[in-house]
Amino acid sequence: MQHLPFPAAAKDDEAEINKLTKKPEWEPHKGAWIAAYRAYRENSGSPFAIFPYDFGPGVGDRQYALYDTRKGSGELRRMRRKEGLKSCPICGSPVTGDLDHYLPRAAYPEFSIMRANLIPACTHCNSGGKRTTVHGGEPRRFIHPYFDDWSGQEIWYVEIVPPFKAAQFVPLGLPGLGAPRDQIVEFHLNNVLGTQFQLSMATEWSSLPTQIKLRDNQLSIASVTRQVDQELRVARAAKGQNSWQAALLRGIQRSPDAIQYLRDEAIVAVLPPGA
Ligand SMILES: [Zn+2]
Repeated sequence: MQHLPFPAAAKDDEAEINKLTKKPEWEPHKGAWIAAYRAYRENSGSPFAIFPYDFGPGVGDRQYALYDTRKGSGELRRMRRKEGLKSCPICGSPVTGDLDHYLPRAAYPEFSIMRANLIPACTHCNSGGKRTTVHGGEPRRFIHPYFDDWSGQEIWYVEIVPPFKAAQFVPLGLPGLGAPRDQIVEFHLNNVLGTQFQLSMATEWSSLPTQIKLRDNQLSIASVTRQVDQELRVARAAKGQNSWQAALLRGIQRSPDAIQYLRDEAIVAVLPPGA
């Protein structure tokens, strides 16, 4: 969940198809393929406006396979190893290193190697439940990091649902996003965050009282609140403003009961030897 610059200009994406369709087996598909690429750009990748094009028997399978033959080298390899990402641009997890097809290549094989359709992601995003889902009821779709420039703002937080000893973690869009962004964010969160997110939240949450005790010798509500604010600033800078960690800290910030609980737990927390 972040805004990214386009990995390639429209003409550079098209240049790949122009090159490929110099080969006789691809040559008959040039016109329709270029038209599909242009429709993608004109409609900002929207699954409600872009319809899979039938290139004829077997062609989709070969388009689908193009990604497999290319992902290990050249431009696609560079995109997968994109440096400087603080967290997964799709789900906010601390992991990166893979690529995800915004419009899934099973449904849209013609965009299998289109760079505007390829988003740096974590392995979970690339192999998780998102895979076969294209969209929900309009306007419910995934956030597109290249076209949705508003995804560069803070857009979500994690609500911590009591009992706090065995808390539940519910990802929610921040109020004030407005329509249709609120529905897009809700759909996105519900479809990209899974087990790994829940496990990570539980681990982070349970380690917070000790972390707080280590850094705060007052342990008042005011001092713990200040510390949560400070941790959020650190998380935003280190992991990005829509990272899992930042969203959890925003949820704590919004809940006086959660702050009270963390402070009470910090008071009784036993510090590790040598701390
Ligand atoms: Zn991810």
